[in-house]
Amino acid sequence: MNTSNLNAAGRNAPNLTVIGILGGTFDPVHPGHVALAQAALSELPLGEVLWIPSGRPGHRAPPVASERDRLAMLRLATEGNPRFRIDAAELESGEPTYTVHTLSRLRAQLGKAQPLVLLLGSDSFLDLPTWLRWRELFDLAHIAHVSRPGHLASDGGPAPELSAEIARRSARGEQLAASAAGRIARFDMPPMDVSASAIRARLAAGQDTRHLLPAAVLAYIQSRHLYLKETL
Ligand code: ATP
Repeated sequence: MNTSNLNAAGRNAPNLTVIGILGGTFDPVHPGHVALAQAALSELPLGEVLWIPSGRPGHRAPPVASERDRLAMLRLATEGNPRFRIDAAELESGEPTYTVHTLSRLRAQLGKAQPLVLLLGSDSFLDLPTWLRWRELFDLAHIAHVSRPGHLASDGGPAPELSAEIARRSARGEQLAASAAGRIARFDMPPMDVSASAIRARLAAGQDTRHLLPAAVLAYIQSRHLYLKETL
């Protein structure tokens, strides 16, 4: 990312490029992630999506593929879109990754005025109250969430403490460019019932995944013998 241009624009300058942030293990990256990022670019006032592959996630099982392989697959899946960028700082750190630390780092790099929008599928969004220092996330970024098949609000809906934040912070997508952080917006994407865990299970069982993975990512997985039964 060209952080120098963003900083040179100044703290109070209007028209800072709004940055969407898509974190995940990307183990492997799949079309659900790509569709989410594309929908965020078309539905929200974003200039770019910054993909942040997590190192060792703080609150879930470690990824199956190595950091190097997950990054290589992410590069293959995102290289066609000039508005996609990758920030690999956390992959390289080897430390447990928490979103509050990720956003604090970006905020320190980019300055107080930079609008940041954390992009979440509904499973992650509904899980928010279990995340480390989750309420601080609203001081650091906006949150934009999108429905994910199998994880709809009708499955139980947000916990009361998250509902209270939604009531206080709700905004329309276009309002996210007007401030640096603190609002919650919803956006839409074509539903894609795909998950990395289901893809890993299919690969381990020797089943066809051509319809579930970008061709270049599948070719990489096959060339590196990833996600075979004995490695899961
Ligand atoms: P796993 O199955 O291993 O849990 P995953 O498919 O959920 O992996 P992650 O890397 O954990 O992939 O997801 C990163 C982000 O992308 C999360 O916010 C998640 O909600 C979102 N996401 C992943 N797949 C989809 C999808 N099919 N539709 C909408 N959002 C998605």
